[in-house]
Amino acid sequence: MLLENMSYVEVEAYLVEKDIVIIPIGSCEQHSPYGILGTDFITAEAIAREVGKRMDIVVAPTINYGMSQHHMGFKGTVTLSPETMVMFVKDIINSFLEHGFKRIIFINGHGGNIEPIKTAFHQIKFEGKSGLLELISWFLLPEVQEIERDIFEDKNGYHATPSEVSITKFLRPDAFRNKPSEKKKINRSQVYFPLSRDEFRQAYPDGRMESAPWLAKEKYGKLIMEEAVRVIVSRLREILKTKIL
Ligand SMILES: [Zn+2]
Repeated sequence: MLLENMSYVEVEAYLVEKDIVIIPIGSCEQHSPYGILGTDFITAEAIAREVGKRMDIVVAPTINYGMSQHHMGFKGTVTLSPETMVMFVKDIINSFLEHGFKRIIFINGHGGNIEPIKTAFHQIKFEGKSGLLELISWFLLPEVQEIERDIFEDKNGYHATPSEVSITKFLRPDAFRNKPSEKKKINRSQVYFPLSRDEFRQAYPDGRMESAPWLAKEKYGKLIMEEAVRVIVSRLREILKTKIL
């Protein structure tokens, strides 16, 4: 059930039965020469929409931009500052709360978004609002990471991972017609975080972080996405049982 395809009358009817909404969130940022700029929101959106479909839950429009300051050394990356992002996420949550949604679930595809989203959650709670705010970063789910280890062993890395590239390959095969596929070296260097855009580019010259995106395959993407959906569905079943204070 996509919010963007519903009328306000349908949302009113939904709210009589349910109080949960899913908000997919990602980023528009470089994913090495092997991956596409939309990777993080495309993966989060597809997982969120599939979960919404299986559970009859409203899925809000995807937030396509995130906190990607460290990737600004690469063309095409667009970033929100953390302050903007906190305010932006807060305004979206507050809008849903005002309409009577009580369980607000972010399905996230980008690590850099975690801190601003959590900060927004804390601020809303400090303002005394009632409701359950949950952030699920699909790529951090232990069950998903286990499958990734089975398939890619120690080559999944942390950014432009073969896992996320596999999902986008599965979802948007046409986008990969002219992408490279040759193997490169995986550098495992000790670095400190956070990094400036220049430090990041020095540490990770082609944008990969210890990953081997050339291993990406559509069939792996299907498998990994299916596991993420399965795990999130069972988490949301628990969340639906939780009493809202
Ligand atoms: Zn990513």
